[in-house]
Amino acid sequence: MHFFKVPALLPFLVPSAIWRIRTSEKMIFLTFDDGPQPEVTNWVLEILNKYNANATFFCVGNNLSQYPQLALEILTQGHQIANHTYHHRKGWSSENQEYFHEIEKTQLIINNLYAQTTKEKPKHPPFRPPYGRISHAQLQWAKQMKIPVVMWSLLSCDYDPKLNCTHALKVLEKNIQPGSIVVFHDSKKAYYQLKQLLPKFLEYVVAQGYSFGLLSDLTPTSK
Ligand SMILES: [Zn+2]
Repeated sequence: MHFFKVPALLPFLVPSAIWRIRTSEKMIFLTFDDGPQPEVTNWVLEILNKYNANATFFCVGNNLSQYPQLALEILTQGHQIANHTYHHRKGWSSENQEYFHEIEKTQLIINNLYAQTTKEKPKHPPFRPPYGRISHAQLQWAKQMKIPVVMWSLLSCDYDPKLNCTHALKVLEKNIQPGSIVVFHDSKKAYYQLKQLLPKFLEYVVAQGYSFGLLSDLTPTSK
């Protein structure tokens, strides 16, 4: 069973996180988690370019350290890089201090990447907790540090090798609305499913007249 849509209760349980963006414009927010990953991220950049779409890449710090050129490519092509911890840590089972260190270490790498380009770093750089799992104390810390915690409105479930892509696409198309934050993954695990989903999804939303926003002007309480 897949949960493409966020169960209605979750945003109430974690109200300080961002689950969608309030906007009157016909705009959605594409996000790609877990990269950068050679070949997969290159392919995603190519497809985004084809559809003139911008996206936010929630990158794992360790991958940024390994593939800095690919990370720079994301920025120079007009996208945004955001924080997804250094080792893809699960907040619920991590020591707080270690978890915070993972976020700070990754943010320094991201800041350094932005400094190598002409792109301005977001004033409040967004963070997405791996697996969407973050404890209350960790959320409080993020709030104090003025870090916007970004969850999602729609999950593509592209990481599941058993995914029925036709069904997934239908659910995404049916539920997309202005302000939706949609999650894909630029990871090896998701690549096969992503190749089937992403071009068709982009074709659909472009035909529907949507444009693509970046999560760059968030404040910790943007909703
Ligand atoms: Zn992740």
